[in-house]
Amino acid sequence: MGFSNAMTVTRFAPSPNGPLHLGHAYSAIVAHDIAREAGGKFLLRVEDIDGARSRTELVEEFRADLAWLGLECEEVSAQSTRIVTYLDAAETLRRDGLLYPCECTRAQIAEAARQTGPAGPVYPGTCKGRSVNSDGPVAWRLDIEKALSKAGSLEWIDELAGAQRAEPELLGDVVLLRKEAPASYHLAATIDDAADGVTLVTRGQDLFAATHIHRLLQELLGLPIPRWHHHGLLLDGNGKKLAKRRGSPSLADRRRAGEDGLILADRLRRGDFPTGISLGND
Ligand code: GLU
Repeated sequence: MGFSNAMTVTRFAPSPNGPLHLGHAYSAIVAHDIAREAGGKFLLRVEDIDGARSRTELVEEFRADLAWLGLECEEVSAQSTRIVTYLDAAETLRRDGLLYPCECTRAQIAEAARQTGPAGPVYPGTCKGRSVNSDGPVAWRLDIEKALSKAGSLEWIDELAGAQRAEPELLGDVVLLRKEAPASYHLAATIDDAADGVTLVTRGQDLFAATHIHRLLQELLGLPIPRWHHHGLLLDGNGKKLAKRRGSPSLADRRRAGEDGLILADRLRRGDFPTGISLGND
């Protein structure tokens, strides 16, 4: 019939480097409700690939926050337990000649970058084709030009924005293995979504452009292709994405203050946001 009978599997994938706030609650509710309406599964995955920034005590808070909001989930393996898988995948890409080592610092890149892409300065390719001693601390970057000529033209579907042509070149030669952490978000999240059987990747529109890279990685690594749903972001009174550092109260604080999480979740579902907060694009 051409229709897939696969069960809808969505996920909420927070990084434990700060407490969850209303924006996270909204994101988790979107993922949870889509799965529930489809009779599918809603997963919680802890994205703790960055050991130096991850705070394990937050994970217990995340579980309590979701339960408080009434979002039942199935927790899958955290990224810190899957490092070997990421390294194996990177090794496959390296053997295919698609990665190169890079020793540039953030400051050097900011200075040398000639373009700014949707996710910040685009790496100008300084180390590409240079001999870099990879015994020292280096990052491994994806050679987008080579990767694209191997993968050809790709498409992906966003349930809200429609069919998209993958344009990973907008982000340039992204890092897949980081100097200071075992793998980058792009590599780890793409591998995890496949390993966890995620069929619909739901996340905020701030990560829309990352999907161009993820779609390319899926092709290069022979992974299944999910659909995506990039939802709007909760913005503060200045039109900025909610963030703990800008003073958005955490869900844990609200929970401890005795607020009813089920009522809060229903208000967020209905678009009845607290004063000063709106749904939009950062
Ligand atoms: N771990 C990411 C974050 O907390 C989410 C990544 C994703 O949903 O793909 O922003």
